[in-house]
Amino acid sequence: MSFLKLENIGKRYGVFTAVDSLNLTIEQGEFISLLGPSGCGKTTTLQMIAGLTDPSIGQIVLDGRDITHTRPNHRGLGIVFQSYALFPHMTVAANVSFGLEMRKVPQPERDKRVQHALSLVHLDHLAHRYPRELSGGQRQRVALARALVIEPPVLLLDEPLSNLDAKLREEMQFELRQIQRKVGTTTIMVTHDQAEALSISDRVVVMEAGRITQVDAPFRMYEHPSTPFISTFVGKANVLQGQLSRSSSGATLALGDLRLVLPQHSIDPNLGNGAVQVTLRPEKLELTAADQGILSGRILEQFFLGSQWLYRLESVVGELIITRPNKGEAPLREGDQVGISWPLEMMRLMPAAAAGGAA
Ligand code: ATP
Repeated sequence: MSFLKLENIGKRYGVFTAVDSLNLTIEQGEFISLLGPSGCGKTTTLQMIAGLTDPSIGQIVLDGRDITHTRPNHRGLGIVFQSYALFPHMTVAANVSFGLEMRKVPQPERDKRVQHALSLVHLDHLAHRYPRELSGGQRQRVALARALVIEPPVLLLDEPLSNLDAKLREEMQFELRQIQRKVGTTTIMVTHDQAEALSISDRVVVMEAGRITQVDAPFRMYEHPSTPFISTFVGKANVLQGQLSRSSSGATLALGDLRLVLPQHSIDPNLGNGAVQVTLRPEKLELTAADQGILSGRILEQFFLGSQWLYRLESVVGELIITRPNKGEAPLREGDQVGISWPLEMMRLMPAAAAGGAA
């Protein structure tokens, strides 16, 4: 049985629908990210789970118990807010201990659990400091320890790393995942950072305009985005307009003047003839000698990304971006003529009608 179930959960503010009949089941111990552009309803969904926002419709079931209208403090969930929300007049230890005091946990056990939570986030040595005496990263750890110390059935994280600088943020992503694996707490994190969602989560939930548009494991979502919007929101993608003609003997894709015969197994059997959107990841494209490859192209611009080069090219099917690993060789230059090739089965075809939120 699923551990946490959102059944037709929705939130309206007057005539505006912030979250629209959302269904999601989460297994015990999973790390789930709610990912989507600003205003898509991620925080509202998290707040409905936390009990901080009342759903207009639907049910929330936790471990077989309907908690839709249970007060937040009776749900016993751990929450970490973007702002950390620490008590400024309390030490680190007192902040972490607070939830246990509220639950009337006896002092000796309280001390033991606070000590354990602080060592989990590597802050044992700062137990007597005040929040104002901590760095942003350390405050974030206190907030995490405070949420975990009550041993909640579910940990809710609202953009917990967004106030940290890029380097620290990346370190904390790994650490957060390690801690979550160690304690095994079912975790739901709101983020608008696709790289963060892909690197930490067991499954990613993409939301657009109050609805879920895809739920998948990170690799699956990256390789098989269900809409052109997701293909450009989760990673980079070339999005091309094409025409598909299927027959019993095969499938032909027209991209402008280019005709490609596609392997049948690489196309969704439900996809019919007509206008399609084709997405192709930049790292799936290969550069060849100018007179070889599927297409010829000309380098318009190059960008150095450290571990990769990103090239912008013009071709008969339109502009394309290609990434190549940086192996220390001299990069291609603006104006260079190249050939472009790719494994045909790496193209993802979707009906043009699915282009709703295409970026
Ligand atoms: P962000 O990444 O910017 O935080 P989000 O995906 O978390 O965005 P929500 O905060 O859930 O988005 O908001 C979803 C929609 O609901 C937004 O259009 C927002 O303006 C609207 N909304 C949120 N709270 C209220 C409210 N109390 N009254 C009216 N509209 C609201």
